[in-house]
Amino acid sequence: MSSAHLTNLDTDPSLFPGLEVYAVAGNPISHSKSPLIHQRFAEQASQRMHYGRLQPDLDSFVQSAKAFFAAGGKGINVTVPFKLEAQNFADVLTPRAQLAGAVNTLWMTEGKIFGDNTDGAGLVRDLLAQGIALHSARILLIGVGGAARGVIGPLLEQAPKFLVIANRSSTKADELVRLFAGLAASKEVALESRSLVDLEDTEKTQYPFDVVINATAAGLIDESPISLKVVANIFVPSSFAYDMVYGKSTAFMQQALQRGARVSDGLGMLVEQAADAFLLWRGAQLATIINPRAVLAELRS
Ligand code: NDP
Repeated sequence: MSSAHLTNLDTDPSLFPGLEVYAVAGNPISHSKSPLIHQRFAEQASQRMHYGRLQPDLDSFVQSAKAFFAAGGKGINVTVPFKLEAQNFADVLTPRAQLAGAVNTLWMTEGKIFGDNTDGAGLVRDLLAQGIALHSARILLIGVGGAARGVIGPLLEQAPKFLVIANRSSTKADELVRLFAGLAASKEVALESRSLVDLEDTEKTQYPFDVVINATAAGLIDESPISLKVVANIFVPSSFAYDMVYGKSTAFMQQALQRGARVSDGLGMLVEQAADAFLLWRGAQLATIINPRAVLAELRS
């Protein structure tokens, strides 16, 4: 077996005879909460499986994934920075993975590698579970990276009133608007792009927003993507601010709190996207048995 690419021993399937083995692949990966989340789902649904961590070198995702599946591994969750490579690695993509341009869940069926993206479904379920109405809502999505791209389709499916995509450079936001124009039209959603500077102008956009989603990585370095001028335009006390970064109260969340808005970090999205991956691997019939909100409560405690 080419176990040279299985850089974390707790992920080598040959070490777990009798168990179906899954892994989360990323670099770095030691911080990942996915093994604990999947372990809890497996306990809730009485599934015999092992879920470990895989840390390919930055240029070795494909070799590691190939080695994992060749050694009998059943499925991989993919995180930063390998989601695009995972999309190219898959033989068959689900329609939502194709639209997202990124894959966070891989599995093998009859010798073929399948790729899906459960990030957007996870975000939408977490928002709904927190009582946030998305139908007819005015939504602002900040960021155009892999995470943002993965959630646009599922957000449009909820038929908001309008969805504005904003980024430092609006060119990338323009591209996403073109890509999702068909879906937006079919749901009668006004889909528009802005630069972050545009959002400072009270004339250029209809303010405020009901839901503002920060899909940038700014929170990781204790920055907010938006200026105080933007904060004043977009938030009112009835707004809901969601930061995909999890495990801390980010600068973006603090800005929203100062305007009286409700806030959430992205931990619920992490748990809900994991739940969808678990169901893809272990069977949709387990949906009524696993309890993602209980797992989320445990992680928060
Ligand atoms: P990418 O690196 O692909 O995207 C980065 C995006 O953030 C780009 O739009 C970039 O803008 C913008 N950005 C980065 N830094 C700043 C800054 N200081 N100010 C303004 N904009 C900034 O990352 P991903 O899309 O993969 O992930 C984004 C975040 O979402 C990460 O923090 C990740 O941890 C989180 N995430 C959370 C998940 C969850 O389950 N909760 C799931 C997936 C991701 P530009 O184009 O101008 O460079």
